Amino acid sequence: MNRRDFLKRCASLAAFASTGFPRSFATPAGDQPHQMGKPLPDNPVDGGMVRIERTETEWKHLLTPQQFWVMRLRGTEPPFSSPLDHEWAKGTYDCAGCALPLFSSATKFDSHTGWPSFYAPLLHAIATMPDHELPEPRTEVHCRRCGCHLGHVFNDGPPPTGLRYCINGVALRFVGGK
Ligand code: FE
Repeated sequence: MNRRDFLKRCASLAAFASTGFPRSFATPAGDQPHQMGKPLPDNPVDGGMVRIERTETEWKHLLTPQQFWVMRLRGTEPPFSSPLDHEWAKGTYDCAGCALPLFSSATKFDSHTGWPSFYAPLLHAIATMPDHELPEPRTEVHCRRCGCHLGHVFNDGPPPTGLRYCINGVALRFVGGK
């Protein structure tokens, strides 16, 4: 490769890197991104939000074992185990998997269930899908950007929505002062 070709290749690589292509992560051979029951559309750009996809190997490195169990294997933390159940400061509750703000402290209430509870999510923050794991059908809640499982939503919440978003504390990161 002569010097001119080398410079042209450098320029094209710089242009490609500056175009803001969708955030993605290297996928080891044979380790495909897990779709969590395909809760999001196939289009990686969901309503203007670029979906974050990581392999389960990558999630295992990013999350604690308990977070991986809850957020990737749809587990449930023990009730009354999260300090966020008793957090009442002003702020936002962000996704522990991708830092997307999910809930505001303004919509948090004490449901006495032992899990952080909210009557509404932030706009465009979460998505839902039917959950038939128990005899009683439930509605699963997950992060709209990274697909991580957060909890469930029930129809026994307070006004103004009448909804109770029952969220695992380990799936949240509280950011005060916002
Ligand atoms: Fe997320």
